[in-house]
Amino acid sequence: MSTSKKIPIYIQIIIAVILGILSGILFPSHSSIGNFLGNIFLKLLKMLIAPLIFSSIVVGVLSASKSGNFSKLGVRTLIYYVSTSMLAILTGQILVNIIKPGCIHASILHMEKVSNFSTSIEIRFTDTILKMIPENIFRSFTKGDVLPIIFFSILVGFFIGKLKERDVKFLSSMFEGLYNLMMKITEFVIKLAPYGIFGLIYAIVAKSGIKIFKNLFYYFLTVFSGIFVHFFITLPLIFFIFTRKNPYKFIKNMLSPLLTAFSTSSSSATLPLTIKTMVEEIGVSKEVASFVLPLGSTINMDGTALYECVAVIFIAQVYGIHLSFSQQVIIALTSLLVSIGAAGIPMAGLVMMTIILKAVDLPLQGIGLIIAVDRFLDMFRTATNVFSDSVGTFVIDFLGKKN
Ligand code: ASP
Repeated sequence: MSTSKKIPIYIQIIIAVILGILSGILFPSHSSIGNFLGNIFLKLLKMLIAPLIFSSIVVGVLSASKSGNFSKLGVRTLIYYVSTSMLAILTGQILVNIIKPGCIHASILHMEKVSNFSTSIEIRFTDTILKMIPENIFRSFTKGDVLPIIFFSILVGFFIGKLKERDVKFLSSMFEGLYNLMMKITEFVIKLAPYGIFGLIYAIVAKSGIKIFKNLFYYFLTVFSGIFVHFFITLPLIFFIFTRKNPYKFIKNMLSPLLTAFSTSSSSATLPLTIKTMVEEIGVSKEVASFVLPLGSTINMDGTALYECVAVIFIAQVYGIHLSFSQQVIIALTSLLVSIGAAGIPMAGLVMMTIILKAVDLPLQGIGLIIAVDRFLDMFRTATNVFSDSVGTFVIDFLGKKN
């Protein structure tokens, strides 16, 4: 234990990832140990989500509205979220139209037994708005429905500011205390991250093996390249343009949450770590981090947006269906909406894809074609989602401090 204290946590996590991959390949039959360790970690993180979102958004909105920054913060956050997601979609769309992985893999329609993935969901944009408003906030808490909790927390934070001085003092110190408490528990959970991440990676590699990549190699490569460009070029460029600081050093400092996102495939579960690292290690103000990050973990998903767009066009290519320019535009726009509506949980993006397929009349069974590699792509897209939230938070905080 004394040595583990000397090794920085992100190095411990990198070692855990490597050991997890090796164990998954060498001892797949013992993966239940990995599953057990991984689930303990995941459940501890999930346990924190609802109280953390509630307390952090209330604290963030309250202090932003006190300083008169609330609307500026809100507008900047939304502009950042929409524009980076659109950039991600554009990157994916260009790559999938150039590489054409679906034409290379067209034969998988005959080779593979396409599993009937028929979970079709009818969600319109208006439904997403309606779902944001909780009918019963306690039910939202018990079910862990993030959007209604966010909506309620914004209202609570905003209206506390309108109360009498005495009530403001009491309620703000109560929420501040709750937030600090959640951060303290997060500190303890982080210590378990290397074990949990080892377990999660071990279980995933043991379950899926490496063989599944064979038939979907070019599809995987297309999504991966898009995510690579967005993660290592587009977002760092945005970071640099606004802050003139080294984006790669920022990536290094964010490795713990990024690798946690990678192994849990859940932006929401990673949230406690993301907030903690951004505030305590990167030095972003609590006011900005506690508003921008929880919101981002559920509505800003650049990796998911990019993946949706590539996957749907890939499916059309495999089926030999030509997409007109206007259909490509519809795919881009619905990918954005779907990424906003998808929850920050594993494989949410895959389920939501039916909305885009329906919007452009593509066969829903197409999802069966890509399901095999989805769990792996989810890891990369979730890390990108969390990274985009973090870059946004840093840039918005930086701009706020400048003027
Ligand atoms: N797993 C992703 C996240 O939590 C969502 C998805 O694309 O499935 O950010």
